[in-house]
Amino acid sequence: MSSADCGQQVDGGESRGKRATRDAREGTAEPVCYVNGGLVPESEARISILDHALLYGDGVFDTVIAWDGRLFRLDDHIDRLFRSMAAVAIPPPVGREVLRDLTIGAVRANKLETAYVKWVVTRGSNDTPLMDPAGCEPNLIIIVRPYIQRTMPDGRSGLRLKTAAIRRQPGQVLAPQIKSLNYLNLVLAKIEAKSAQADEALLLDLYGRVCEAPGYNVFIVSRGTLLTPEHDILEGITRASVMEIAAKQGVPLRVCDIELYHAYAAEEVFLTSTAGGLVPVVEIDGRVIGDGRPGPLFAQFSKAYLEMIASPDCGVSIHGEQEA
Ligand code: PLP
Repeated sequence: MSSADCGQQVDGGESRGKRATRDAREGTAEPVCYVNGGLVPESEARISILDHALLYGDGVFDTVIAWDGRLFRLDDHIDRLFRSMAAVAIPPPVGREVLRDLTIGAVRANKLETAYVKWVVTRGSNDTPLMDPAGCEPNLIIIVRPYIQRTMPDGRSGLRLKTAAIRRQPGQVLAPQIKSLNYLNLVLAKIEAKSAQADEALLLDLYGRVCEAPGYNVFIVSRGTLLTPEHDILEGITRASVMEIAAKQGVPLRVCDIELYHAYAAEEVFLTSTAGGLVPVVEIDGRVIGDGRPGPLFAQFSKAYLEMIASPDCGVSIHGEQEA
């Protein structure tokens, strides 16, 4: 299946909330995770305290969701994980096909149909607490949890963002395209936003252009056109899905530099992520976005995205059925 085939729409059926609640009930036993060759209860999972991931944030990760028994855009996530490993020179601990099978096995072991799945690949350890990676063997961890249903804070209809004083680091420092275990930049932005009573941070680049939010890409609607930043971002797979939906539905879209002014003056703003889907933004730095409620394009794209993740064409079955 190619990612370009993912735009077919089918009935989204049962809502995300209902599915997540049902799976949360099914997943009441202790979660089982995969660590270096075996499945173990999470509380028994072990890696060395000398692992470079712990000492230096030296490793990569990726997140994929299972939706009603199918891992959504699994191969796109695997490809991105492999690109992250290549960029930080961690030799893949397993091949793509093996990772596919291990992931399916881990979701099944947790008896979940709808799940949050996180792969973590650490540099490993070499028995010294020093930075030299010589002799390190990478660790592979697969964490599976019931799908985490995000609810709007205080029952509001959208998020309030605050631009963070800390900036998204440029590629010359650490390429934001790498989904690295060194997310301190994003965590600090989140702390800033929360301490200012905002729901989420909006990160700018060194020149003041809009980049992303911690764990989310950003879209703004400006004079009917969808805009999304081009530089210093993680190239989100949900972002790619939104871009495919825009192309299918004939909604004009530009990948370009976005000044903060454009976000403040936007008709609509929304965030995208694998774990959270499409999330509307109703306020940035005290400026009300549009009329302060999720807008019509958000509603249109949110519906199409839910249909996409429910489509058999976009997911790999955890039950070994033939792909459509
Ligand atoms: N930006 C950052 C920094 C992220 O870590 C993520 C995902 O976790 C995203 C954007 C959204 O990417 P995706 O849609 O692939 O989940």
